[in-house]
Formats: sequence, C-alpha cells, structure tokens
Amino acid sequence: MLEEKQKVVIIGGGITGLTAAYYLQKEAREKQIAIEVVLVEASHRLGGKIQTVTQDGFVIERGPDSFLERKSSAAKLATEVGMEKELVNNSTGQSYVLVNNKLHPMPSGSVMGIPTEIGPFVTTGLFSLMGKARAAGDFVLPRSKVEGDQSVGEFFRRRLGNEVVENLIEPLLSGIYAGDIDQLSLMSTFPQFIQMEQKYRSLVLGMKKGMPKKPKTPKKGMFLTLKTGLQSFVDAIEGHLENETVLKGVRVENIQYHHKKYELYLNNGNKLEANNIIVATPHHVLPSMFASYRMFEPLKDMPSTSVATVAMAFPKAALEKNIDGTGFVVSRNSDYSITACTWTHKKWPHSTPEGQVLLRCYVGRAGDEAVVDLSDAEIEQIVLDDLQKTMNISMKPDFTIVSRWKDSMPQYTVGHKERMDKLKAEVSEKLPGVFLAGSSFNGLGIPDCIDQGIDVVEQVLQRIQSS
Ligand SMILES: Cc1cc2nc3c(=O)[nH]c(=O)nc-3n(C[C@H](O)[C@H](O)[C@H](O)COP(=O)(O)OP(=O)(O)OC[C@H]3O[C@@H](n4cnc5c(N)ncnc54)[C@H](O)[C@@H]3O)c2cc1C
Repeated sequence: MLEEKQKVVIIGGGITGLTAAYYLQKEAREKQIAIEVVLVEASHRLGGKIQTVTQDGFVIERGPDSFLERKSSAAKLATEVGMEKELVNNSTGQSYVLVNNKLHPMPSGSVMGIPTEIGPFVTTGLFSLMGKARAAGDFVLPRSKVEGDQSVGEFFRRRLGNEVVENLIEPLLSGIYAGDIDQLSLMSTFPQFIQMEQKYRSLVLGMKKGMPKKPKTPKKGMFLTLKTGLQSFVDAIEGHLENETVLKGVRVENIQYHHKKYELYLNNGNKLEANNIIVATPHHVLPSMFASYRMFEPLKDMPSTSVATVAMAFPKAALEKNIDGTGFVVSRNSDYSITACTWTHKKWPHSTPEGQVLLRCYVGRAGDEAVVDLSDAEIEQIVLDDLQKTMNISMKPDFTIVSRWKDSMPQYTVGHKERMDKLKAEVSEKLPGVFLAGSSFNGLGIPDCIDQGIDVVEQVLQRIQSS
C-alpha cells in the first residue's frame, strides 16, 4: 500500500465524470491503493445532459432517452449499481422519414441508411428512379483513394449519391449529431464504414456480409433505458460513491501546475490540490480553466450545436391519425422546424400512463439553431403546427416540457481525431496527470462516455502505481 494518499479531482459530474469516480473508488478499494477522489460539479445536480422529469405518471427524458445495447459498458455499469431490473429494451416498430413533406416508411433492412436488402430499396417511394440507379453505383464504384479523414457527406455522396444522402442518411445522422454531415468527420463518427469500403469495396455488400442472421425469436429493440428514467441511473451511481466525494454547485475556474501538484481555484473562493485531474466537462470550458496553457486554445474553434427537446402529453383521443410506428426523422428538404419526433408512448410504453400519448420532438440542428432561443410558448406552437401537418393533431397538449440544450452537441468536424490526439499528447507532456474524457473527445453516446471514463481511470491508476 502507498503511504501518501494520492488525490484525484474529477471535474464535471455528467455520466463521464460519475463513471470515472465510481470505477476509481472501486479499483482503489479492490487493489488497496490509497486514493482520495473528489468530484466537482458546477450545477446543483449530477447527470449533466441526463435529466428525467416524472410528472402525472409520465417518465420524460429531457436529454438522452436511451443507449445502444450493443455497446455493453452502460448496461454493465447499471447492473453493478443495482439497476439491472429497471433495464428495458425499446419496442420495435415501423419508423418513417419525412421527405418533401410526406412520411415514407423507412425501407426495411436499411442500417444507418445503407441498404442490406435490395427489394425494399427498389420499391420505396423515398427516392426517384434516378436516385435508385445512382445508389446502385455502389456495386461498381472503386474504393476511395482519400487518405486521412473526410466528411461523412463526401463519403456517402460518392458511394450512394446525393438523393440517398439527403432523403435518408442525413436525417438519420443529424438525429444523432445535430450536425452538418458535410462537415462531420467520418473517422470520428463512423470509422467502420472506411474499413468496410476498403475490405468489400461496396458498402451494400459489406453491410450484407456483416448483418447477423434474422433471429427466430421476436425482434428485440436495439436500445436500452431504465424504466425509472435515466436520472435514476445517475442517482444509483452517486449512491455508490463514498461519503463526501461530491462537491455540487462548485465550479472549477482556474488550474495551475506547481511543484508537480495541481491547484484548482473554485468559484467559492476555495482551492483544491490534486496529483491527478480528470477533466470531464464540455470542451469549451477548458481554454478558460487552463487559461495559462495555450495548448487548449484550438478548442475554442470546435463548434457545438444547440437543440431543444419538446415533450408533449395528450389524451389518446388527440391522435386523429394513429400511424402505426415509433416515430420519424425529417429531411432538410421538408418545410418543417422539427427534426425528429418519437412516439414515446409506443417506443417506451413504460413512459406513459394508459390512455395517454407522449410525443417527443427535436428542434435545432447545424445551420438552424435560432429556433432554440424562442420562448417556450413559441416553440410549442411551432411543434404543434408541424404535428398538425403530419398527424392531424389539433388539440392542445395537457402539458409541454421544453428543454433547451445550448451548445451541447459537440461537432466532430473533419480532422477531429488528429486534433484531439495532438492535444492529448501535448497535455500528457506538459501537464502530466491531467486526463481528458467525455463527449467532446471520443464519442458522445452514453456508452462511449462510460468507456472514456473507464479508460481514464486505467490511465490514472497506471500513473499512480508507477510513481
Ligand atoms: C438532447 C440530447 C439528446 C441525447 N440523446 C442521446 C441518446 O439518446 N443516447 C445517447 O447515448 N446519447 C445521447 N446524447 C448524448 C449524451 O447524452 C451526452 O453526450 C452525454 O450525456 C455527455 O456526458 P458527459 O459526462 O461527457 O458531459 P455532460 O453531461 O455535459 O457533463 C459535464 C458536466 O460538467 C459540468 N461542468 C462544466 N463546467 C464545469 C466546471 N468548470 N466545474 C465543474 N463542473 C463543470 C457540467 O455542469 C456538467 O454537469 C444526447 C445529448 C443531448 C444533448
């Protein structure tokens, strides 16, 4: 056992920082390493972008509503903190794309917009004959000669043509990143497609090869959430942290490195000392927190987009047109402000009391963010007008919850990975013991953030054990 306790300060109590705090304390206990962990969170609650409201029997997610089951670290952590029984998969159902103001069923067998079954692509009304013929070019087009990174738009436009990109791939991807696909880095978002093209040349053939055989059992949804809401996941992790680990309502304002130790200056006038720091805040905070270190300056140029989620509860009778399915995404060529709408009562039946309907819409995406700054009443009206056009909803909702997420979706633009690798290398050289993690760096899905939290814990432990 080491004699002097190593002090690790984690900045940011979103899912990344919480994961890091949980695993750091767990590993330290198991390996009998003397570590003191302090988690500093600027707001008065933990969870960051994860936030659940329970109201009138509804479970409403203000931010993320679920995570991919395939990326296993989130379900594993939920199980470790005693929430296994609350995990639930989404109900599957038809989803739609709104193109030129008309709802089209998503062609079956399309994965992120790439066809794995030819029949549904030939018969869909989503694309013109020319568009379909252009997409078939994927079977014969050569491999890309682009070296290094390229944009998601450039890659898919070359392989499948503009129409498939604009009517299917862009609306699907912008639901995840709220970004401009002609700026988004392929390497940082979907590196598997680069490898697929290099291996199989054709994306369609590559996807078909990689697809699991159709299961005999009824299809299970790809996503998981917690019946009690994702905030309960956050609360369960917090409940497993040792007493006096968390400082809430305290912001780290400035960090200085002196005599192989860090001094963290807080907005309440206090100072913390640390041997190691895990920074798990959004990237735009870093240049001011590390104001004396120029290496963080480029983060000022990394964009983030603003979105708002709008949850609306109605009685079932409000749905004059009960479309069979779980929701739709909206292409940019449609005259709509919403970018997506989930029929939450169908996708997540636990979220909604019997006889009620819960719709959750998104507004705001790259190039179209001004809507997020409107008042709640204005946003509600815009969303209602759009819903009226697609679903004939003429009633006012029983209640509406608007959640604004300003500058909250970090944009991994072309070259992101290279820039982040360079920054991390510089940090490791000039500020040893400082580790960066979270949605601004290496994936913004909840499991990606958890993986990064786990990864930095390993790095901190390695440093402590080798010192
Ligand atoms: C509307 C929306 C929907 C989403 N949907 C999904 C989804 O369905 N599935 C999915 O997997 N992902 C989804 N995401 C992405 C995912 O929610 C986030 O990427 C993830 O929660 C980010 O976690 P984080 O811990 O890295 O950062 P954050 O949650 O942003 O946490 C960072 C924390 O740092 C704190 N902080 C900032 N500055 C300081 C400071 N100076 N001192 C101390 N503390 C500070 C902040 O208060 C915050 O609590 C969604 C995101 C949004 C916005």
